[in-house]
Amino acid sequence: MLVAIVDRAGRGGTRKVKAAFEAVETRYAELGHTLQRPVSGEIVAIPIMGASKSLKDRHTLYVSARAVESGLVDGLIAHEVGHMLRTEAGHPSHSPDVYRLIAKEVRIPRAAEAAFGQAFNHVQDVYADDLAFPVFAGADGRRAYDFFAAWVENNATMRSKNRWQNLGLAASNGFAIGSLVRHGLISAEDKLWDRARAFDREAGFQGVDALAEFYAKLPASPTPEDFIAELKRLAAIMTKASTT
Ligand SMILES: [Zn+2]
Repeated sequence: MLVAIVDRAGRGGTRKVKAAFEAVETRYAELGHTLQRPVSGEIVAIPIMGASKSLKDRHTLYVSARAVESGLVDGLIAHEVGHMLRTEAGHPSHSPDVYRLIAKEVRIPRAAEAAFGQAFNHVQDVYADDLAFPVFAGADGRRAYDFFAAWVENNATMRSKNRWQNLGLAASNGFAIGSLVRHGLISAEDKLWDRARAFDREAGFQGVDALAEFYAKLPASPTPEDFIAELKRLAAIMTKASTT
């Protein structure tokens, strides 16, 4: 339940966010998901669309002023509530106890740590979206397709000379396409594959096919041990891509 909403960016939108939150909450309830902890919302001037932070007794939802002004605010809220639900349920992808095991057990080259961090955030996104897709994807999934297609296009404009940064973007492409595969919204002939493979080629490696398959096939409810095994696979895929 949304207990407060504050506009810190000074551009308005509290009523819009409140209405969107309530619509998302109702849709989740129809699907059998209800948050236990209260949520306070803040509209803030940040470069990303939004974020959330979970404490033992409450959640904070951050919505960017840009997201409020876009047509995507309900999709963003659905996604962030997906993270909150996973945190409350103690899913391995959202569990501090499991994070500690990951830090101990998953080995990655030092230079790849930031890229792996991004790739791990997308693992969390997959699990948030397993809950959020039915809320925001649209009856035919078209909305989700358009969203992730724009994501891949945007990544293409961000390619740099830094191999590791590019590997982080390749993971992001793998997540975007893998999500569409996971939810049955993309064919093998789709032009997004060409876009993402071209990104890899220009960056000098190959990653998107293995990464997309990884994200598409993450098990829905792994044990902590199985989850850590998945992350070791992810580390291996990224290490391999970075050295080919
Ligand atoms: Zn997320």
